[in-house]
Amino acid sequence: MKITYPHMGNACIAIEAMLQKLKLEVIPPPPISKKTLEIGTKHCPEFACMPLKITMGNFIEALDLGADTILMAGGWGPCRFGYYAQVERDILADLGYKFDMVILEAPDSRVSELFRQLQALGQNVSIVEAFKALKFAWYKLQVVEELEKKLAYVHPRALDKRKAENIYDLALEKIKATQDKEEIDKLFHTCLASLDQIALRAEEPLRIGLVGEIYTVLEPMANYNLIRSLGRLNVEVDNSIYISDWLNDHLLGGLVKKSHRRQLLKCAAPYLNYFVGGHGLETVGSTVIYARQSYDGVIHLGPLTCMPEIVAQSVLKRVSSEEGIPCMTLYFDEHAGVAGIQTRLEAFTDMLKRKKARRAAIH
Ligand code: SF4
Repeated sequence: MKITYPHMGNACIAIEAMLQKLKLEVIPPPPISKKTLEIGTKHCPEFACMPLKITMGNFIEALDLGADTILMAGGWGPCRFGYYAQVERDILADLGYKFDMVILEAPDSRVSELFRQLQALGQNVSIVEAFKALKFAWYKLQVVEELEKKLAYVHPRALDKRKAENIYDLALEKIKATQDKEEIDKLFHTCLASLDQIALRAEEPLRIGLVGEIYTVLEPMANYNLIRSLGRLNVEVDNSIYISDWLNDHLLGGLVKKSHRRQLLKCAAPYLNYFVGGHGLETVGSTVIYARQSYDGVIHLGPLTCMPEIVAQSVLKRVSSEEGIPCMTLYFDEHAGVAGIQTRLEAFTDMLKRKKARRAAIH
């Protein structure tokens, strides 16, 4: 079995580690490029959301490299995600590809079911080995997310931003390549220490909360590297979604780390109190929390035609006015352009800076 998977930000580091520990031969899809999106766009319905097009491009590129099995997450609820895997399987079959597709259905609070699915996927692995594979992948994911958070703090404050980016990028590459826990620990601490040595600006940066559809928030190629662009504009970005939070809430029964889901739903309730699919509810709840934590603004991301985020956007107008937080929504599709996005980021952050300066002058 030569297995592949779809990219989603740094999650590939953990997924690859888990598959290798399950004794599988892994054929990672090449990093997402313009070509990946072009391939996906060519073979998907025009109205499909961008994550479907990008992941389709991932699969075709990986199958062309020799993969014969695709690992894909399943889903449920009112949005299209529940049919993604089936739609992709049918399109690929129509294109003449021969492959198996393994769909990991989110068991929502049945951890034993997840182990069963993983064990079935592995090549002759016991339940203990499946558990160890999952534990190691989780560990790698935690390390990567801690580094993401550290960079999110240092980058907007750094005088030498390229240096911060290079330290982080290099550390991730090395962590991805090693399966040795001690080595990963060493790389992690070296990266933290190197980032700590970077000289920082005296001025405190603007603070923006990032909310929206999970794939668009987590995959830099889907959001045109928005977090890095904001860091270069001296803006600190707090990401409201991490893949470990989603896994903890939906696959691991909330057993592995503290879940904030209840608080999110409580904060969203006065504005939106029913499930609208995807991350619509979380978008609203997180925006309320950012407003109450005195963030300067919120940026809301989604793929064009994403129903849950369209619902959330309509609610955010009220949240913005009642909670007093500026919100900007950006939708992405294959026609989005870097220059247009950069202009909107600069205009939004300029407006926030002026607002902050006015507030400071009054107090
Ligand atoms: S949440 Fe949005 S982007 Fe994701 S599958 Fe549903 S409609 Fe598409």
